[in-house]
Amino acid sequence: MEGKVALILLAAGQGLRAGARKQWMRVGDRPLLALSLETFEKHPSIHHIYLGVDEDHREEGARCLAKWAPTKGRQVFMGGRRRQDTVYLGLGVLDTQVEMVGIHDAARPLVSPFLISRVLEKAREKGAAVPVVPLRDTVKEVDKDRVVATLNRQGLRAVQTPQFFRREVIERAYREATRMGWEATDDASLVERAGEEVYTVEGEEENFKVTYPQDLRRLEGLLGRETTAGIGYDVHPLVPSRKLILGGVEIPHPAGLLGHSDADVLCHAVVDALLGAAGLGDIGQLFPDSDPRHKDRSSLEFLEETARLLDEKGFQIIHIDATLVLEKPRINPYREAMKERMARALAIPPRSINIKATTTEGLGFTGRREGVAAYAVATIKGKR
Ligand code: MG
Repeated sequence: MEGKVALILLAAGQGLRAGARKQWMRVGDRPLLALSLETFEKHPSIHHIYLGVDEDHREEGARCLAKWAPTKGRQVFMGGRRRQDTVYLGLGVLDTQVEMVGIHDAARPLVSPFLISRVLEKAREKGAAVPVVPLRDTVKEVDKDRVVATLNRQGLRAVQTPQFFRREVIERAYREATRMGWEATDDASLVERAGEEVYTVEGEEENFKVTYPQDLRRLEGLLGRETTAGIGYDVHPLVPSRKLILGGVEIPHPAGLLGHSDADVLCHAVVDALLGAAGLGDIGQLFPDSDPRHKDRSSLEFLEETARLLDEKGFQIIHIDATLVLEKPRINPYREAMKERMARALAIPPRSINIKATTTEGLGFTGRREGVAAYAVATIKGKR
């Protein structure tokens, strides 16, 4: 049986260049380090995750590990003064079954699963592997403001994390470093000095390190690009002596929809579609039937609250498409008013909502006019 693969996530740094501890900066609803924690948690080849933090973040570190790495998170440990001290302390807490060790900077939030696989595979084969990217700019060696030399860019690479090592390789390097008093800004350097070969794989541009405040804006831009969709479906029975309210508009009709709230089947389907797209559960969890506050309530308020919730979580509504399924009445005269009211509740332009209607040609419960059904698909933009 192959041994376990452990990942040490480094979040103990001071992050002085960004003006604050960047690994704890908020990105949407979470701290920066949660992004890489989640990526390693989901990666099939990673078994254990260890999180190195500073004294001030012991409790928050434990909360983050439990929340973002619920199955693989093993331990939060106190880091040291320098990066290499933290790695050394991390190596000391690894499980005995661990054979491969990955080390990653929490300030690189966009590490991809493919990159993790590439580095790990190479390290299994060679003992030590790091991701590298070519340099964009010409590199000069300088003495204060004077150029001393121009380096040949061809043979130079910038090094990223995660770096992966066979356990005995990285442990030997750190033992030597401690004995000899070596200092280094990455782990591979110590492995090299200890006389081991370090191999490279292709890194990724998006796996950049958040160092300056503008890096955080770049990150938010990259994260904001992801688009998701959700589906919603709802049915309410048609009964005499109730108002018929669809899309927030009261429509004159001898029967109306029965439900705890105003039973606006169209708004309910849209709420579910939005919650689905955002991964936030369903309408029953958010507005339970058992809650007397929702009795006879206008479902436009459910839309409003849902839109507010999505906004708080950093999502933006792009488009909603919905289909009402009913035999009677014709909804065409009310379509624009519905779009307008729903759009206002969701704080989006009316052109971002499309409402369609169909009959079922007399078939089924809608055909027999026993009830009305609605389908909706919501497209939203947000973080991953
Ligand atoms: Mg409903």
